[in-house]
Amino acid sequence: MLIACDIGGSRIKAARVGAGGALTTLGDTPTPAEFPAFVAALAGFLPPGARGVAISIAGVVDPETGVLTCANVPAVNGRVVAAELAAGLGLRVWVGNDADCFALAEAVQGAGAGHRNVFGVILGTGVGGGLVIDGRIVTGAGGFAGEWGHGPVLNARPLGVDVPHFVCGCGLAGCVDTVGGARGIERLHAHLTGQATDSVALLARWQAGDADAGRTVAVWLDLVAGPLAMVLNVVGATIVPVGGGLANVPALIAALDMAVRARVLRGGTAPLLVPARNTVEPGLIGAAIAGGQAFAA
Ligand SMILES: [Zn+2]
Repeated sequence: MLIACDIGGSRIKAARVGAGGALTTLGDTPTPAEFPAFVAALAGFLPPGARGVAISIAGVVDPETGVLTCANVPAVNGRVVAAELAAGLGLRVWVGNDADCFALAEAVQGAGAGHRNVFGVILGTGVGGGLVIDGRIVTGAGGFAGEWGHGPVLNARPLGVDVPHFVCGCGLAGCVDTVGGARGIERLHAHLTGQATDSVALLARWQAGDADAGRTVAVWLDLVAGPLAMVLNVVGATIVPVGGGLANVPALIAALDMAVRARVLRGGTAPLLVPARNTVEPGLIGAAIAGGQAFAA
């Protein structure tokens, strides 16, 4: 029996993986700050007979060294995480990035089912992504494959409007992450209009026909669609499930889909970007699938 966990900075959620991958919640608990307490918290979820633990976390595991970088979870940040947890729990442990787990969930039992090359996109607070090919997560160099939010790539004059290359948390400037997510579109709107607005209100005004909101969304579409089209050309994705808070506005995803399809080489009339189907606990679902693959090997 496999246990799936989703680990964030504040909570650990756990579920038992039943026959056919069905998840039964085991509850949640605060994320401890120290490693021994973290191991004990995971152990507290393990029923008798548990055979392995699969973990989705908002961090990156280097596939060569196994070292996790996850500033939000200091208990495991910098550790050879799967090996150290396996030693502490006496069970096999798989650990993966949450956006990768999201993409795997979509590829196997979501909007990407039946597609070989699936690029999962998160438009949440910031921008993330994961690449799944033939039903397997591609982690790549350093574990960063799919991280299309970072790189100094933005057009500085989208639609002829000056947009500065905002400095990104990764240390570069001009990253998609600085304008692409909820905080990003708010930053863009503040730059273009001088108005502070949250993304939900901004997108509601856009859908109601507000001119200022419409200009911000038009600039946003131009900024984000170019880099995303390039990524899709490179990875050959035939479907792009989109999750995160901005995906709660289907009209925005439809508009981004049109903008991206106008820029990719393949063309075609079928939608590329579609709202994700695993909207509840995609990390747990993806971890359960990845753990099943890892422990079957
Ligand atoms: Zn960046």
